[in-house]
Order: sequence, then structure tokens, then C-alpha cells
Amino acid sequence: MADPMTPAEWRAALRAEGVPFVELEGWTTRGRDAATGRPFGPVYGTLNHHTAGRNSLRAIAYDGQGPAVPPPLAHAWLPKSGVVTLVSCHRANHAGLAARNSFDAIRAETPIPRPDKATGTVDGNDALYGIEAENLGDGVDVYPRAQYDTLVRWNAAVCRHHGWTEGSVAGHLETSVEGKPDPAGPVEGYGRRARFPLTMARLRADVRERLAHAPSWSPPTTEETAMPLYANLGLVHGYRLAPGVWDHVEFTQEWADEAGDHAPNGTVFVAGPARFSGSLALRLEGLPVGDVVQVRQVECAGSAVKATHPISEVIGTAGGTYATISLVNRLGDGRSMRVDLLNQSSRDVEVASVVLKALVWKES
Ligand SMILES: [Zn+2]
Repeated sequence: MADPMTPAEWRAALRAEGVPFVELEGWTTRGRDAATGRPFGPVYGTLNHHTAGRNSLRAIAYDGQGPAVPPPLAHAWLPKSGVVTLVSCHRANHAGLAARNSFDAIRAETPIPRPDKATGTVDGNDALYGIEAENLGDGVDVYPRAQYDTLVRWNAAVCRHHGWTEGSVAGHLETSVEGKPDPAGPVEGYGRRARFPLTMARLRADVRERLAHAPSWSPPTTEETAMPLYANLGLVHGYRLAPGVWDHVEFTQEWADEAGDHAPNGTVFVAGPARFSGSLALRLEGLPVGDVVQVRQVECAGSAVKATHPISEVIGTAGGTYATISLVNRLGDGRSMRVDLLNQSSRDVEVASVVLKALVWKES
């Protein structure tokens, strides 16, 4: 149970966290509390949005979305400059109805399930802080580095103030019973990470990283260090590999992906322009002694195969088969790399474990 932040608490928390901000006139009194008879709070989390438009401040602060949805439409507006405009510290019309199952998970700081209207609904505007990040939401429009950095800091500032974990950070798409898709879109980069898609899992991980440091902390950037980036991917569960067809390894476990090239549950482990060096450790069950599973790196442009690299052969041994294959390569711009396996035995083999570790040097 937490009371909404006061103007003084907002200013202090944002300054401490390094959030650049300006205060819109009237932000300390603007809100929907009196008009709805429902005072804002207690608060349980943050809700992140994209505006799906440009120059959205006027709509968010003054115009709303017509008579049905009066302003303010958020507590904060985050344009591409990364300088937040404080719009309101009271009740705002940003969340709409939240599915109760998602809302309860935010309250409990547990993983947020898909919003299920059948569990009931909660008025998210009663209890969630809202930030609107300026982005068209078309999957092409990019969140500049400064904008994403501020988004992480704003969420962390609120969590730190209330003593919350990153589990209190949610996206509109995680609560909406109307199928809202925000926030989403490509991000230019963050810290030492190159371009990556905005997902709530990534945003929460970045908030968690901030909260583990002092509020004055900044993520290290590539310019400050010659250290390579680290990628460490694997499998959540083993899977069956049928005989006779080349099959891509889908990396479902991501322990580290500093380069940001691996999309969740994707096959790509590094994208160019880059050089990389590493290893792939495989454990296979059920491969008959003397039979072979072939392993090769496949270079792609999008989904098109551009080059296949030399094959390594893993030969079945008694008591399970273990192999480590070295990965070294240079990838040009627009190229990405994945790993393919071909089971040459006559029966299904279980790919019990795949662990990929690589150091990645980005080129420009
Ligand atoms: Zn939204």
C-alpha cells in the first residue's frame, strides 16, 4: 500500500535518478480525481506506453481523446529528446481497464500473465503511474538511446521511491483487456547494447540492473571500454531432433546478451557488423554409438541463407554424447548467424543441452 508521490517526492526521486525533466504548468493540480470522485492511489506500479503519434503532449495534457477520455492521459510524457515533461501527479486516464490477473501480479511483483478478462477487471487509473513514450508504434520508428535511458531511469526512480522491485513495472500490453500493443518498437541502444526491440522483459531487466546500483549510476557504454560484449545462450528444455533434416537451434535461455542481437526465443545469436569468438557445448541423448549429428553455422540476411560454414561432426558415444565446437567468424552489416543441426542417425535424438558462449566485438 503506497500513497502516490507528491510533487516534492517526484522532483527528488527524478533528480536523484538522473532523469532530465521539465514541469508543465499546472502539473501538481491537474488530474481526474475530483471529476470522477475517485482519488488516485494507493499505487502499485508503473504502466509504460507508446503514444502511437507525434507531438503528443497537447493531447496528453490538454485535449485528451475526445469527451469520452478527458485529459490528463499520463503522468509523464517522454519525447525522443529523453527530457520528460511532468503532466500530472494525480489520477490520469492512461490505463483503462486492467485484467485482474495481470493487475494482481503487478501488486505481488510476480511474473505478469497474459491479461485475461475472465478474471475480472480493475480500473488501472486508480493505481498505476503512466508514462507515454513518443513513438509511432509501427515497428520502424526508433526510440533514441536517450529516450530509452530516461524510460529506464523514470521507472527505477518510482520503484526506488516506493521500495518496489522491477516486478512493479508493467506495459500496457500486459494489462489491457482491449488488446493494446504498447509499448513496442526498436530501440537505438542502451549502455553497451546495440539496437534491440523494446520488450517489457528487457525493460524490467534494465530497471533491475539500475536498482542494484546507486541512483547516480549510469550503464557503461562502448565508448568507455574496449571490452568485448558477452553472449551466453542456451535451452530452457531439451528437444527431439528428427533424423534427416537440418534444424535451427532455437535459443530459449538467455543468461547474457550484451550485444542485444538475440531476440527472445530466437535462433540468431550474433548480428553483424561484428566479429565473434566462442564455443558451443552440446549434450545429445539417444544418438547411437558411431552415428553422427552434424553441426554448422549458417549466415543469414533476414530469413534468407547467405552462406553455410564448414560442418563439424559429433559422433555418438556410449552413455550420452558430449561435444564442444568452436565458433569464430566475422559478419558483415545486415548478416546474422545461427546454428543448425542435422541428425544423420535413423532415429530421434534428444538435444538435451546447448550452451553457447561468445565474445562479440561490434564493428561500425
Ligand atoms: Zn497505452
